[in-house]
Amino acid sequence: MSDYDLIVLGAGPAGATAAIKARSLGLRVAVFDEASAAGGQVYRAPSPARTTTQPEADQRKGDALRAKLATSGAVLYANHRVWSLTSGFSVIAIGPDGPLTLEAPNLIVAAGAVERHIPVTGWTLPGVIGLAGATILLKAHGVLPGRRVVVAGSGPLLLLVASKIIAAGGEVAAVVDAAPRAGWLAGAGAMLARPDLMAKGAGWLLTLLKARVPIHSGAAIRRVDGTDGVETVTIGPVDRNWRPVDGTEPTIAADAVCLGFGLLPSTEVTRLLGAEHRYEPELGGWVPAVDAALQTSVPGLFVAGDGAGVRGADTAPLSGELAALGVARRLGHAGDLASQAATIAADWRRSGRFGAAMSGLAMPPPGAAAMIDAGATVCRCEGLSRATLDSAIAAGARTLADLKATTRCGMGPCGGRVCGEAAAMLIAAATGWDRQTIGQPSARPPLRPVPLAAIAAAFDYDELPIPAPAPL
Ligand SMILES: Cc1cc2nc3c(=O)[nH]c(=O)nc-3n(C[C@H](O)[C@H](O)[C@H](O)COP(=O)(O)OP(=O)(O)OC[C@H]3O[C@@H](n4cnc5c(N)ncnc54)[C@H](O)[C@@H]3O)c2cc1C
Repeated sequence: MSDYDLIVLGAGPAGATAAIKARSLGLRVAVFDEASAAGGQVYRAPSPARTTTQPEADQRKGDALRAKLATSGAVLYANHRVWSLTSGFSVIAIGPDGPLTLEAPNLIVAAGAVERHIPVTGWTLPGVIGLAGATILLKAHGVLPGRRVVVAGSGPLLLLVASKIIAAGGEVAAVVDAAPRAGWLAGAGAMLARPDLMAKGAGWLLTLLKARVPIHSGAAIRRVDGTDGVETVTIGPVDRNWRPVDGTEPTIAADAVCLGFGLLPSTEVTRLLGAEHRYEPELGGWVPAVDAALQTSVPGLFVAGDGAGVRGADTAPLSGELAALGVARRLGHAGDLASQAATIAADWRRSGRFGAAMSGLAMPPPGAAAMIDAGATVCRCEGLSRATLDSAIAAGARTLADLKATTRCGMGPCGGRVCGEAAAMLIAAATGWDRQTIGQPSARPPLRPVPLAAIAAAFDYDELPIPAPAPL
């Protein structure tokens, strides 16, 4: 008998809600998360060292979610990094007490999203951090990325991060948005359908206007310069396809840069388990192909939250509930779950429109590859510049696997999470191929860095099988 009926990977809003729902239907549920508490990225629990008098709205929502999960009866394995999985399903993790493997016939992957990076010259300098990563610094630790910060890239996280820096007492030297101002109008329809979220965005913008922060739309960072860290940031205009064009190139004094171009669904687990995927630019890129219950092409493997397509924090819990209902139905749970699922699915689709519109705003068009200079480091783990990758592509590399084999791009500790997207953009730029043709990177364990001792486990040399000598 399996350890549980269901294992949930990820205790963000999608995974935690899936676990709570599944427990309410009587399923035996375990949840893994590498963070020290449930909440995921958006409702991340503040670090114990952080003292705030007034918890912010996201923290209050996170506290409520954590309390509900704690009393649901689901077993939460916090501080457990899942580094491998096998079909059927075995989930292999490393936690504070060492390795742990649990089994269940159903798995909901609610692993969230990762940041999309477009490398610029100087982005490896200390003081340059990811835009989404900056939210962790600000929310969980109450730490400013710098004293005078340039916030650059694309999508709604620009306004969120810039306004949080100001609220925390920092200075935003400039917001640099690659999308033209008119680009935001494209999402207007979806925004009008969610006046609450639109008001939130308007509040962020008002904070920037009050602080007289210069907002450069249709512009991007040309380079970041400094000796031991960020000192200056040079920006310049880009066209509608985000290709750098001639124009004034002001240099801004700053000691930090928050840089990011939206989010990509985290699909390494579903790729590792052999699920089918399809390319959906409005959902952030490659997403697992799913049925109405969010079950992938692998029976028993469900997805929820941003990992099923970037739709944002408000939509994530609905997909969690939907996936939990799908698991219960698969297990033959009695009761009218079909009509419940139909109602939730309709809400999920409606709610998802706003998130998808925001995700679309951040999505770089193909011309954005031109923002990467020949000398810019693309693969940070292996120290590979654009010029090196372009030479490999010119010599015939046509897939991410080709680039990996010929240059080691994506073979470092990040496993391609940081450089894979930029590398695919370079192949697309050189070949004119679309992203479906280029394909996805392969996923291989370990999905996360893991100590060798955890893989090898304890052994005695006498236990090692010695093969018989080959006959001469
Ligand atoms: C860095 C970052 C910061 C963000 N900040 C904001 C923000 O401030 N405001 C906002 O509205 N949206 C933010 N977003 C988007 C937001 O995270 C999502 O819209 C929302 O949280 C999606 O919920 P989810 O449950 O799908 O995923 P998440 O909330 O991302 O939860 C996924 C969980 O899975 C866990 N996980 C993933 N892989 C593993 C593994 N191998 N082993 C163990 N655990 C694993 C993670 O630790 C995480 O807790 C951010 C996204 C990112 C990537």
